[in-house]
This record gives sequence, C-alpha cells and structure tokens, in this order.
Amino acid sequence: MDLFIATGNTHKVEELQTLLSVHLPDVRVHSALALGGMPPVVEDADTFKGNSLLKARALWGMSGGHAVLADDSGLCVDALAGAPGIFSARYAGDNATDGENRAKLLESLANVPVGGRAAHFSCVLAFIDANGKEHTFSGECPGEITLAEEGSGGFGYDPVFRPEGFEETFGTLSPETKNRLSHRAIALADFVRFLVGN
Ligand code: IMP
Repeated sequence: MDLFIATGNTHKVEELQTLLSVHLPDVRVHSALALGGMPPVVEDADTFKGNSLLKARALWGMSGGHAVLADDSGLCVDALAGAPGIFSARYAGDNATDGENRAKLLESLANVPVGGRAAHFSCVLAFIDANGKEHTFSGECPGEITLAEEGSGGFGYDPVFRPEGFEETFGTLSPETKNRLSHRAIALADFVRFLVGN
C-alpha cells in the first residue's frame, strides 16, 4: 500500500515515517510533497478529530485514489482550561513560531506553581483508505509543563513538556523515547492494529 501523509509539518512526517517503518515495513510512506504539497486547509472544526478529517479529505481529493493519513494534534493544559488545544500551532497568533508559542505558554503559566502544571498532548490520526472510507485513531500523552525551556530536540512544545514518569522534557529525551510514549505513537499503534486486523 502507498500511504500519503497529509501534513506540511516535516517533524510530523519524520515521526510518522519512523513509526510506520518499524511497525508496517510493507507500507510505502510518502509525504504530501509527492502529490505537489499539502493543499491549504482552513482548520475550522472545533475538535482534533474534525480538523484531522478536514486535512485527510483535502489530500485524499488529489491523491488519485491512494490512502492518506492526517494528524491533528496539540497541547491541552489543565490550568488553562484545556488551552491551547486545537489552537496549539497558532497560540501566539497566526504564523507564530514554535518559540513564540512556547514563550506565550510559559508566560500564561507564570503564576502557576509546580504541582499545578498538568497537561497532556493529544493526537487524532485520520485515515482514508483507497476506497474513500474514513477511520480515526486517537492517543494522549500525560505530563506537565516545566518552569522554563529544557532541551532543544523535537518541535513545538517539546522543550516545555515533561512526560509523566520522566525527569526530562521531550526536548531532552531521545527521539526513540518520544516515539515510544508520545500521543502520536499511541494513536499510530491503534492505526497499526487496525491495518493488521484488516
Ligand atoms: P496542527 O499541525 O494543526 O496539528 O498543530 C499541531 C501543533 O501542536 C504543533 O504546531 C505543535 O505546536 C503542537 N504539537 C503537536 N504535536 C506535538 C509534539 O509531538 N510535540 C510538540 N508539540 C506538538
């Protein structure tokens, strides 16, 4: 099977490609670039699942009947009533950089002490098969927001997110460790179980 990844985010493509090559070595994984690039999508659904399906449908429409997989994900912080949530990529404004989003997050939590900084990453993968049938798979990774940035690995909020049970952030932990416990890895494991069972 050829599988096209419906995202323009190279970090997501890399993580998904790594995870898929381990679990489904027979699946040929391509980025949206192989289809001319990810078409613009107005992400105006109010859930990760809704936005993930919007992205998958947009690429499926130009895939010539090939299967596609989209990822919508974000960080939900308890003390901020779940924000930034579906707005994670643009928390500090449209076209904000990852660094600007992290700075705004740390600023928003400036008065929240250690112990009150619980958060989780959430991911919904939307798969559309060659026949146009839609399926979604979700994963969450619990943890907490650090007081300052730690490490420079990964992307997005990785340097300020310490997964439960670890002393280091995703910005410091190895990609192998992140790929064992991340929200994306958990959703992908569900997707893999589905594909293997079908
Ligand atoms: P999306 O591309 O609309 O799904 O936005 C996802 C945003 O959530 C990214 O731009 C990051 O800010 C954040 N995010 C999602 N997954 C991760 C992750 O694995 N690490 C760090 N940040 C993430």
